[in-house]
Parts: sequence; structure tokens; C-alpha cells
Amino acid sequence: KVRTRVAPSPTGDPHVGTAYIALFNLCFARAHGGQFLLRIEDTDQARSTPESEQAILDSLRWLGLEWDEGPDVGGEHGPYRQSERMELYGEYAMQLVEAGKAFLCYRTAQELDELRNARREAGNSTALKPADLMLPEDEVAKRAAAGEPYVIRMMVPDEEGSCAVDDLLRGTIELDWSMVDAQILLKSDGMPTYHLANVVDDHLMGITHVLRGEEWINSAPKHKLLYEYFGWDMPVLCHLPLLRNPDKSKLSKRKNPTSILYYQRMGFLPEALLNYLGRMGWSMPDESEKFSLQQMLDNFDVQRVSLGGPIFDVEKLRWLNGLWIRDDLTEEQLAQRLVDWAYNPSMLSKVLPHAQKRMETLSDFAPLASFLVSGTLPLTEASFDDVKAEREELLKWIQFSLWKLEAQRQWERDLLWDDLKGLADALGVKVRDFLAPLFVAVAGTSASFSVVDSMEILGPDMSRARLRHALD
Ligand code: ATP
Ligand code: GLU
Repeated sequence: KVRTRVAPSPTGDPHVGTAYIALFNLCFARAHGGQFLLRIEDTDQARSTPESEQAILDSLRWLGLEWDEGPDVGGEHGPYRQSERMELYGEYAMQLVEAGKAFLCYRTAQELDELRNARREAGNSTALKPADLMLPEDEVAKRAAAGEPYVIRMMVPDEEGSCAVDDLLRGTIELDWSMVDAQILLKSDGMPTYHLANVVDDHLMGITHVLRGEEWINSAPKHKLLYEYFGWDMPVLCHLPLLRNPDKSKLSKRKNPTSILYYQRMGFLPEALLNYLGRMGWSMPDESEKFSLQQMLDNFDVQRVSLGGPIFDVEKLRWLNGLWIRDDLTEEQLAQRLVDWAYNPSMLSKVLPHAQKRMETLSDFAPLASFLVSGTLPLTEASFDDVKAEREELLKWIQFSLWKLEAQRQWERDLLWDDLKGLADALGVKVRDFLAPLFVAVAGTSASFSVVDSMEILGPDMSRARLRHALD
């Protein structure tokens, strides 16, 4: 029975790449009459947040993707959140230690650096091997007695030649053993790394096929070894091509918005975005560009995936979205979409407290709020005429703000205020002056609500996109 999964890490905004991988896993499972699971890989406890997990689940659902088992729907192989399975990983790591397939490593950070340097100087790869890392028994005993921290690392071959990994689309891939290091499986705080948790869970959850991004190809030898050590069958691997920016580089939020929330906020239809993601490296047998999830499910054949990096082009997505708006929605449906999207009570309740103070007639509302329901604002140099700063100076302020806000994970007005006030102080600029160009970038004019209120309502993705646009 075919079982596939998507395994996002809840460490940031829901990525379009996650939806793309999820879509292909869902289609593959359904094409074989199998099941599709969602597992949350939150072993990185410092970076994982419940808000991010919720946003991922909500965004995938918004797109119309459904999973048969997962943290929110349950299932026989749960829990589906790795943070709730922690004791399992420790047990499996110890099982490998007892079998001589893994070892306790007491090396300090400084020693690791020295070992890497030594390998480099000897003309070897810097991938540390068990022979580099293992200490004499009495030294291990001494460090253990002193209660020094240790990690558990896997044994890996220290030999010439390569490891052959089979891939459903790429055939047999050869990866040099010299690049495969004695990977940490369990960290000194007892937390598993991705590799251990991923292999243990794929096995225990009965995963038969792993469709994931090609960035994981280099991990495949380690995973293959782990399956061998445990004596488990390895799932079939299938590495999908990564999404790319129009300049062919890996899609990244510095060049293109990558968050599903941004596309939602920009007014893309979920059907159209999903359709577009289905077009990433895949095509319908009749090459039609517009198709529904159901049509994709009915026609899916993984062999139709082409490996050339698919380009995620927002202009193309807009065009496709336009087709969906014009061809698939009745006027009533379109009206409903608009209401749900922007003119719903929850949105209005956020905007009205700011708008009401500034209104004399109801007709004042639309101009006041229009920037909140717009996409990219048409800015020119003249838009900044009222700002009392040289152009170069104000662009610098916007750029600094953008950097600062890219790091802000809690999008709340007071925290945004602290960020921006801090920057203004550091630059020795009056806050009022400093915020003026940000007003223009975010709202199109400096005569608007407080910029931090506007940004809170617009959300992180749209706000950052506006700042980025002002720099173009
Ligand atoms: P960025 O370079 O924008 O910071 P990232 O790789 O750091 O991106 P993550 O937050 O690590 O992004 O990734 C979130 C999820 O999105 C991961 O599951 C990752 O596999 C997937 N992902 C990231 N970039 C791409 C891409 N270009 N194509 C497909 N999937 C991607
Ligand atoms: N947690 C990993 C990610 O977010 C999963 C990779 C995999 O599918 O094995 O990309």
C-alpha cells in the first residue's frame, strides 16, 4: 500500500515549496490508491513555533490539500509531531550504539575544528569520519566520568568510491563516500537531528515513497545506511526539482515572495496557485495549462515530472489567476470571494478603528483603506517628494528597516515600533523623519494611519514586499 508524506519544519512562514512538495506527494499517493500523511518535523525546538505550524496547516488547507493522517486529524501512526515522539529517537539511537553502528562522541568544538583542519591539510574532505573522532577508551571513560557532554554519531564508511542511491526519476545516483560524515544522530541535549527522526518516523509510519526537494539528495547515503543498520526496507526516493526564481537561482524570499500567506494576501485564488504549483515541472497529458486539483489527480503520472528547474514566475501566475477569475467564477461567486478576502468583518474590525477617526463621510473610507486591499503600489520617485531626506538616505532607511523586519518573527505593532525606533535612534534620526519614507512605501502616501498599524494589518509578507518594491 503506497503511503507518502510531507514533513514540513514549522520554522517560518508557510513556503510555496512546501505546498508544491505536498501536492506531488498527494497526487502520487492517490494515483496508486494510497494514503498521504502530514508530519511536523519540529525537532529544532529553538526555531519551531506553534504559530508557524498552524500557518502551515491553514495554508495547505486553504489551497485545498487534504491529508489522511496528521497532527490535527490523527491516525493510527501518531503522534504526528516529532516533539511528541522524543523518547523514541533516543531509544533507536541507543539501539545503534549497542549494535556498533553508532558511537558516543565527546569531542569538543575546538577539537572538531582542529580535526577538520588536519583533514584539510592532508588534502582530504572535511567530512569527519569515525576514525577521526573516536577517542581512546580511557579518554572516553575520563570524559564520561567528568560528566562532559556527548553526542551520538553514526558510523560511516571511510573508503574510496561511492554510494549508489536509486531515485525514481533520476535512476541510480552515485555519491562519493568521502563526503559522508559521521552524522550526529542525537545532540548533546538528547534531541534527534533531522536524519535520525526522519528515518525512524518514515519507517514507523509505513512510508513507502519519499518525494522531497532535490536539496536532500546529499543526505540519501546517510539515510540508506540508517535503514541498513536498523534492518528496515528503505522507501523509494524521488527528488523533485527545486522551484527557481526567473533568473534560475533557487527560489528565495530575497528575490521573490515565497510565503503562501503573501499570495493569499495579494488576492490569488487558491485553485490558481495550486494549479500553478502543479505546472512546476509537471504537465497534463494534453499540455493544458489550466487544470483543477481533481484533473491533476485523475491524470497524475510521476514520470511526467521533468527535471529542469521549474521557474516560479509571479507574472505567469497572475495570468493564470486571471483565467480562473474570468472563466470559473460566476459574478455571485466572485462577489463572495471579494467579501471573504478583504471585506469580511474580521478585516473591517482591524481597519475601522484607524479609519473612523479620519472619516467625515462614508465615502472617505475607500480612499483611506485602499492601500490595504491593493497589491503592489504604483510608486515613483515623486511619491517621496514630501519626505524630508535625500533619496539615497531614505532608500538606506528603507533597506535597514527591511533587514530588521525580515528578522522579526512576531508581527505585532509594538514590536515593530521598537524595531524601527531602535533603528532611528541608532542612526541618530528623528523617528518621525525616519518613518516618513516607510509610510510612503507601505501606504503610498505619508498621510495615512500609523505605519506600524498599517504593517500589522498588512501582515509581514505584504509589508516586506512593499518595502522591497520601494527599493526597486
Ligand atoms: P530561503 O532560501 O527563501 O530562506 P529556505 O530554503 O530557507 O528558503 P525553508 O524555510 O528552509 O526555506 O524551507 C521551507 C520549506 O520549503 C522546506 O520544506 C523546503 O524544502 C521548501 N523549499 C524551500 N525552498 C524551496 C524551493 N526553491 N523549491 C521547493 N521547495 C523549497
Ligand atoms: N523537514 C524536512 C523539510 O522541511 C523534510 C525533508 C524530507 O522530506 O525528508 O524539508
